[in-house]
Amino acid sequence: MTYQNYSLKQLQQIDAAHHLHPFTDHKELRDAGSRVITHANGPFIYDSEGAELLDGMAGLWCVNIGYGRDELAEAAYAQMKELPYYNSFFKCSTPTPVLLSKKLAEIAPRNVNQVFYGSSGSEANDTALRLVRHYWALEGKPEKNRVISRKMAYHGSTIAGTSLGGMDAMHKQLNGAVPNIVHVMMPYAYELALPGESDHDFGLRAAKSVEDAIIEAGADKVAAFIGEPVMGAGGVKIPPASYWPEVQRICRKYDVLLMLDEVITGYGRTGEWFAAQTFGIEADTITTAKALTSGYQPLSALLVGDRIASTLVEKGGEFNHGYTYSGHPVACAVALKNLEIIEREGLVDRVRNDTGPYFAKALQERIAGHDLVGEVRSIGLMGAIEIVKDKATKERFLPSGSAAVTVRDHAIANGMMLRATGDTMILSPPLIWTRDTIDMACERIGKALDLARADLRKR
Ligand SMILES: *Cc1c(COP(=O)(O)O)cnc(C)c1O
Repeated sequence: MTYQNYSLKQLQQIDAAHHLHPFTDHKELRDAGSRVITHANGPFIYDSEGAELLDGMAGLWCVNIGYGRDELAEAAYAQMKELPYYNSFFKCSTPTPVLLSKKLAEIAPRNVNQVFYGSSGSEANDTALRLVRHYWALEGKPEKNRVISRKMAYHGSTIAGTSLGGMDAMHKQLNGAVPNIVHVMMPYAYELALPGESDHDFGLRAAKSVEDAIIEAGADKVAAFIGEPVMGAGGVKIPPASYWPEVQRICRKYDVLLMLDEVITGYGRTGEWFAAQTFGIEADTITTAKALTSGYQPLSALLVGDRIASTLVEKGGEFNHGYTYSGHPVACAVALKNLEIIEREGLVDRVRNDTGPYFAKALQERIAGHDLVGEVRSIGLMGAIEIVKDKATKERFLPSGSAAVTVRDHAIANGMMLRATGDTMILSPPLIWTRDTIDMACERIGKALDLARADLRKR
């Protein structure tokens, strides 16, 4: 690597001249310059200025075992030397996706035993949508093709991903979504529960919106419901305990398939291998990516339930879909090693029994009381902090989203990387965080909140 020969200024200039970034205002980027991250170790990332930041987002919800793991580099190196690539089309296979599929079938919910690979969460959701529609066509019901999703859902950024997702800003630029996808309310009690409505009742009401949409379309027209067990990019929205079992009951009642998007919640994030296990539900498809390799390689795995898989086998006929990099041998080798490390270090149990509860308590005791904070919530090692102007009325600062950006900027300046989405700060740290790391994060976030309060009161 020769980037050391370039100054930060030069890298930023070249970046602005040639590199279009995801979800970025390029006019703004041109003015500000990008933050160049050059290396990382354990829970810390370092920028080209030498600043050390505690990474509260695990990269982008993915680096669950932390940075600097030689074992993953060695697994990739060994696989590249032995067999860097071969396809899995035309009745071919390579060893690592075979073994990874076996491993995934072991840790997935019991009704899930088949895997289809891609390189990203978006691709896996494209696969899921095509597979579900193909399933109903094989079952002789091609008109059962609609999918119910939710407002503010994030299912990726391809055309199908954007269409499945419920982000208004993305839909506006799409100018023509994949048809037959509708969006119902999200289970977000903090803003949507009625005065006096219990969490339990709110969860049931949010689930009822799924049933209403099925009835409106006609059950014979609805293929599936898709949802993130915990909405991630939409602001770590954790549904009440009543929500998922009721959604499951409704899907079964109307013979509608359940598609879970576990691209964030998979591989230990909520204290089980999958959030389906945390919420006690069974899904027909489970989309996974991100932490499958801890982000060390691009890889997604669509976990496919027995119901769909057995129809594929029984009815036969080619499923006309696949990617050059489906089952990429190097990415699968890295995933295998990553899962081995998660198991060996007991990270899933640690999140469930130790760091998850400690994280929840720390946010409640040290952050929730701040006068900029309307609510904190967490599940496993993902959390949210609602930024408000007035705790009692939940009034927000204007313009919308500006306060959270102020908090985020102070956090980064104080050695803490976290994200702002709308008026919500979100956290999704590596699962290697310990109690000490959580203490350090709370201290830095508290300081950022104090500094942001001073700024915001001045405005
Ligand atoms: C990140 C994400 C995706 C998209 O994954 P990519 O790898 O960016 O395509 C899909 N669904 C959810 C829930 C995500 O968080």
